[in-house]
Amino acid sequence: MKLEELQKIVYDAGVVGAGGAGFPTHRKFSDQVKQIIVNAAECEPLMMVDHHILHKHLQALVDTLNILIDTLGADEAIIGIKGKNMHLLDRKIVASLSGTKVRIKEIPDIYPAGDEVVLTYETTGKIIPEGSIPVMVGVMVINVETVYNIHCALTKSEPVLDKYITIGGDTDKDITIKAPIGMKIMDVLQCAGYGDRLQGHAVINGGPMMGKLVDLENDVVTKTTKGLLIFPETSQIIQRRRMPDSITLKRASAACCQCTMCSDMCPRYLLGYDIKVHKTVYAASQSMVTDTESFLQSALCCGCGVCTVMGCQQMLNPQGISMGIKGLLGKHGLRRTNNKAPEKVRPERESRLVSSKRLIERLGIAKYVKDSVERDYMEFKPKRVYIQLSQHVGKPASATVKTGAKVKRGDIVAQTEYDALGTTMHSSISGTVKEITDRFVIIEA
Ligand code: SF4
Ligand code: SF4
Repeated sequence: MKLEELQKIVYDAGVVGAGGAGFPTHRKFSDQVKQIIVNAAECEPLMMVDHHILHKHLQALVDTLNILIDTLGADEAIIGIKGKNMHLLDRKIVASLSGTKVRIKEIPDIYPAGDEVVLTYETTGKIIPEGSIPVMVGVMVINVETVYNIHCALTKSEPVLDKYITIGGDTDKDITIKAPIGMKIMDVLQCAGYGDRLQGHAVINGGPMMGKLVDLENDVVTKTTKGLLIFPETSQIIQRRRMPDSITLKRASAACCQCTMCSDMCPRYLLGYDIKVHKTVYAASQSMVTDTESFLQSALCCGCGVCTVMGCQQMLNPQGISMGIKGLLGKHGLRRTNNKAPEKVRPERESRLVSSKRLIERLGIAKYVKDSVERDYMEFKPKRVYIQLSQHVGKPASATVKTGAKVKRGDIVAQTEYDALGTTMHSSISGTVKEITDRFVIIEA
């Protein structure tokens, strides 16, 4: 298959990164890629989406990786998975990989093993330069579910219509389900039997470290929804997210002693990056607007939250401050110009790695970790879906249908033009287009 052909199929199927911000996958493909790294770290506590896919569809993933290797002209594909999860992989398939271009690499059980800078280092020994992207070191990092979505597009001409999601947290049972994209999150939780858990609780979309608070009235399933974790309103996970930015900054202004613990624990700092989040906290909380470098270095932050949860003993939120500033930099198109390429990791890295166990204890969520998470094959039949026009990095899609149009499950309803950074959206149910707003194409069954 030609590279352009693969890109077009993946764009038409609406495949975007399923494990993170939703970068359009076809735009990651390049003949500069020599190593394909499959992110199977799933490092956020309580999440099981990727592991359920690996458990069930390993052969499909391997076959797809071989197609990607051939089409991109890559040397190899590496599935980076934690040792504690190796038992999920089919032994016969793993044995069949011997001597092939697909290999399994055991990575340590640390957080954030799934950050692409950390994962690239742990699987290849390469350090992605500051402010750069993996392809600069010949690498493409791709999530497990994204590879599976490419498989469905290539072998079944199936676009991305559903999303695998783990529901867990303060629940009796944790499950992984497959829900139609565009279904209201509240409806998903109710249909799955978790509606009565919501009293006195809030829901996080994503993991406890990087996930966002769900607006239960309005939020819908998107191509990047990965976890719906239910936590008590009183938990530190929810309280931190409920705190207004102005209070976060005021608390930092009053209590930050510049001990540097937040920077010392930062996984990217430990990989040699020149990121010192304590300086960002100081500059932001003291309104030191002339200290531009302290603001600009937040562009190097991945928002992992180690500084907040494991570093700061004053219960401040350097992660929140750093990511707030990073968002403002992006909005105003401000870039850091003095990026460097670290050649080696800092010697203290080894002793400062954060184990998943320690992280879970610090978050106070050990009581929510179940012995197993079931894959539940329940069927959802939403009466309405809200297909969000922006579920990805880049330009939002524009509706390609009109109000009143009849659509079938799988029909295209919105698209970003091929040359722009964007993707294709499909209807996840059969029905009638009821309304088109600046955010959604709304379809009624
Ligand atoms: S959130 Fe904190 S620890 Fe994580 S990359 Fe950003 S500054 Fe470093
Ligand atoms: S760890 Fe907390 S108190 Fe120390 S410098 Fe960072 S934000 Fe300030």
